[in-house]
This record gives sequence, C-alpha cells and structure tokens, in this order.
Amino acid sequence: MAKKQQEFVTQITPREENFSQWYTDVVLKTEMVDYGPVKGTMVIRPYGYGVWELIQKEMDARFKATGHENAYFPLLIPKSFLEREAEHVEGFAPEVAWVTRGGTEELAEPLVVRPTSETIICEMYAKWLQSWRDLPMMMNQWCNVVRWEKATRPFLRTSEFLWQEGHTLHATAEEAQEETLKMLEVYREFAENVLAIPVFCGQKSEREKFAGAAATYSIEAMMQDGRALQAGTSHNLGQHFAKVFDIKFLDKDGSHKYAWQTSWGTSTRMIGAIVMVHGDERGLVLPPKVAPIQVVILPIAAHKEGVLDKAYELKARLEAAGIRVKVDDREGQSAGWKFNEWEMRGVPMRMEVGPRDIENGQVVVVRRDTLEKEFLPMEGLEAAIEERLQLVHDGLYQKALKLRESKTVDATTYDELKAGVEKGFVHAMWCGDEACEEEIKAETGATTRNMPFEQKPFSDVCVHCGKPAKYEIYFAKSY
Ligand code: AMP
Ligand code: ZN
Repeated sequence: MAKKQQEFVTQITPREENFSQWYTDVVLKTEMVDYGPVKGTMVIRPYGYGVWELIQKEMDARFKATGHENAYFPLLIPKSFLEREAEHVEGFAPEVAWVTRGGTEELAEPLVVRPTSETIICEMYAKWLQSWRDLPMMMNQWCNVVRWEKATRPFLRTSEFLWQEGHTLHATAEEAQEETLKMLEVYREFAENVLAIPVFCGQKSEREKFAGAAATYSIEAMMQDGRALQAGTSHNLGQHFAKVFDIKFLDKDGSHKYAWQTSWGTSTRMIGAIVMVHGDERGLVLPPKVAPIQVVILPIAAHKEGVLDKAYELKARLEAAGIRVKVDDREGQSAGWKFNEWEMRGVPMRMEVGPRDIENGQVVVVRRDTLEKEFLPMEGLEAAIEERLQLVHDGLYQKALKLRESKTVDATTYDELKAGVEKGFVHAMWCGDEACEEEIKAETGATTRNMPFEQKPFSDVCVHCGKPAKYEIYFAKSY
C-alpha cells in the first residue's frame, strides 16, 4: 500500500479494535450523517438520504403491489388518544415528547408528538369505517416519529427517526393474521434481495412485543460483531385498539362487528444495518440496489485528449441502462486519493478509463467488495456492469450469511448460552416464562430475539431454568 493510501485508511478505527467506534467513524466520515444539536437527533446528509430515498422507492413499490395506499396523518396527537389503550400508553409514556404550550398560551390538553400513529389513525378509521364493503382498509404513512430514547446512535436508535408505518383494518381475525405475516415476508424479501442482509423471521416473546399488540413478529439481522438488530416489525393488533376506539362495521349478516387490525414498520435504522453488516476496514460497502452511486468513473490522465469525453460518453450509456453513475473529474486530487475516497464511501464498482484503455477499447473495473480488478470491453459494457452489480449483491449476501452461520450456536445448557451470546446468536429451547427471560437478560445481557415459525424442538427442557421447554427461540445481545 502506498503511504498516502495508508494514511487515508487509518482514519477509520479498525473493526477488531473497537467495532462501535469503527461504526461511528464510518457513518460520519462517509458524510451520511452528522449529530443534531439536540441530544439523540441526527442530520441525515445527502449521501445518507440518497440511500434512504432508494430504500423508500423499493419498499413503496412493494407496499403498492400488496394493495396499500399512502396517506398522511398529523404529527400532533391529543393526550387522551394515547391514554385509551392501557398497554399502549404504559409502553410509550416513558418515551413521549410533549407539547404543552402553543405560542404564549398553555394548552388546555397537552399534545403528544407521535411516537407511532396507531391512536390517531384509529380515531380516523373509526369515522371512516361503516360497512364490510369498506374493508380491508390498507394505508401506509412515510413520516418522522419521536421517541425520547436514552442511549442513542446515528441511524440505529435516534430520538427522531424517519420510517414507514402501515396500518390496516380487516373483517376477520384470519385476514389480519394473514396481512401481518404477508408484510413480514415483504420485509424479509426486501432485506435479503435489496439490502443483501439475511434475516431470521419469527414471533417476539410477550415481553418484547409491541405495546398494545396481540402478537409481534420481527426480522432480526446479525451485525458483524455478533449482535442482533431488530430490522423491522409487523404487529397483529387483534381488536385491542378497535374496541377502545370503537372501530366497527356493519357486516353482511346485519350485525355490527369490531374490525381486526395490523400495523408494521421499518425505519432509518436499516441504514445502520447496512453499515454494520457489510462495512470493512476501508469503510462503507453499499449493496448495489441502494447505492446512490453504483459506478464511479475515474478518468486517468484526464488532461489527455479524449479521456474526459470518453468518461462522459460511458456515463451516458450506463445511465441510459438505468445504472447510477458519477464521473469524478475533480482536479487536484490524485487517482490514488480518489480510489480511497470512493472505497471508503462504499461505491460498489470503480471504473478507470485512461488513454491506453481507450486505445484498446476497454475499461478497468474494480469491485468494492472483493477489490478484484478486471478488464471489460467497452462494447456491451452495460450488460457486463449490470451482471457484476448483481454479483456484488450476491457476494455480500453470502458473506453475511456465512458470518451469521459461524456466529450462531445451538445451546442446551446455560453455560453454552452464556458463552454463545458473547460471540453471537444462541439458538435454544425456552420455557416461555417472562421471569426466566428477565433473569437471562440480567445475567448475560442477552434478550430473546424471535421464535422461528417452523418450530423444531431439540431439547425437552428450558436452556436456563430446566422447566419443560415450550419454544425454540434465538437469544442475543442487541443494538
Ligand atoms: P415499533 O413501532 O416499535 O415496532 O418500531 C418499528 C421499527 O422501527 C422497529 O422494528 C425498528 O426497526 C425501528 N425503530 C424503533 N425504534 C427506533 C429508534 N429509536 N430509532 C430508529 N429506529 C427505530
Ligand atoms: Zn426457563
């Protein structure tokens, strides 16, 4: 490595030395994010927001394809709404930000800055729902929410974050359950096929479920340090909210019935997952489908005749094929410096075009994930690049999957569990008791993540307390 290159790379703390500091270095130095002036808030800078816009585009298409429409509900919610569902208020009260004054006047009723929108949406749904013909009602909202979190980190846990929240109403319990699982599957497919992140799908324990839900399901991803990140949740709300908000419809049989409800959400946290799953010593590694720049073209000896023109010609060709391209024609930076910068920023492919390449009718391309270099003919370049972007995606997914496999252990004894959660995920049999779960958390720092849908018991007794085992479940320390 050239000296210059070394200096550049050492600005990022090595992962082995301090993974947490490595993460902070990466998100700040790639200019994805900066800290906001209010504790726990973040400023999403254009490079980070570009990733978010691509996430939104991909997800939104999936929501529309499954029959949902977007809507927008107010940021401010009357205090009384939050208080109607007992478990919901108990769960969210410690994290709520309040508005108590408007201008110079104290408000008669304090307002809640939405931590989630179930209550206000329920209020409106109660008004809009009349008959079985109005069902299902299927909406999604893209917005910001505020939760007064104690420990915060950019993207992973912030006090204000951007997200989408889906909210649906159904005529029957079966339909609501079907929708809950369908949207979890949308999240899984998105995580794996767009973000190249393998996830475990399953049901949350009673202790870990959403406040007010009948059941919560999640997708859980493993970060490179072996910790879990809950990357998305889908809730079956049963009739809990329908009963307190009086969401009823006249059914075909002439009787009034309460609707069955779901809600589901994913947030800017997913950007943190991308960083922690795919990043390396050089910095960020973006999965191609959400990379704002998929190919960066670096003109070599740009002052020589025809080089810049060729670079821009190739850019136009690739863009016409739907590939996101940037030509880095900045003067005064060496090629080596630029290589390092775009590597740090995680651009999936670098392309070099110099006078000799032009003579030979070829370009040099380097994959960000493997740093493999190859020559590609200019003819048919579009298809060759598309193919390689897919290879980068597949390579990232396989690498993440291998790491997860190497850091997941089956445990039948408590000692195995304790050792396992120091390294990664522990797959074990559990009794289902909240007290047992609490003890495990207090003693090891690990929480239950989720219970696989297809339960394959492999021990008769709970990994911790020795009582009869009820569930196959994953334990891990989490972000
Ligand atoms: P919930 O409504 O609590 O189920 O949250 C939905 C999703 O939002 C979770 O699965 C997380 O991925 C994400 N999320 C929850 N809290 C935060 C936070 N403080 N910062 C960023 N993302 C969050
Ligand atoms: Zn137990």
